[in-house]
Amino acid sequence: MLINLRKICVVALVSLMFPACAQQTGNQNNNKKATVTMDTFEIKKSNEEWRKQLSPVQFGILREKGTERPFTGEYDHLFEEGTYFCAACGTELFKSKSKYNSGCGWPAFYEPSTNKNIIEKKDYTHGMVRTEVMCAKCGGHLGHVFNDGPQPTGLRYCINSGALKFEEGKK
Ligand code: FE
Repeated sequence: MLINLRKICVVALVSLMFPACAQQTGNQNNNKKATVTMDTFEIKKSNEEWRKQLSPVQFGILREKGTERPFTGEYDHLFEEGTYFCAACGTELFKSKSKYNSGCGWPAFYEPSTNKNIIEKKDYTHGMVRTEVMCAKCGGHLGHVFNDGPQPTGLRYCINSGALKFEEGKK
C-alpha cells in the first residue's frame, strides 16, 4: 500500500515536470526571438511616442503585434498600381505588382520591394510556428509570411492593411 502510494507520488511528480519542460522550451524559443532587439532597428521610439503618432488600430498592429479581422482592412481588395509603405516610418515595403488576391482576408504579396526593408523571424505564439514579418527600419509588426503563395516565389506575405500606407502610381 505504501509502495503504491509512492508510485502515485512519483507519477504525479513526473506529470508536473512536463509542463515545466514545455515552459522551458518556450523560453528557449523566446531566446531565439531575442536575437531581434530594439537595437536591431534604426528608429527607436517609446510606446508613448508611437501612441501619439499612430491611430489605436495602427498601434495595436504595429507595436502590439495585433491582427486586424479578416476582410476588414482597407487594402484587402485594392489592386491599383502603386506602392505600400510602412504606416509607422514610411519605409517602402511592397509594390502593387506583387499583390494578389489570396482570398485569405488580408492583403497578400508574393515578394517585398526589397528584402533589406523587412525582417523575418520565427513566431511561436498561439500554438503555431509561423514566420513574422517586421519593418526593418522601425521594427513594426506587419504580418506573417507563408510558403503557399504563387510563383515566382511561392511565398505569401500576409500583411495587415493597418500596418501599411498606400501611395497610388508611385514607382
Ligand atoms: Fe517601419
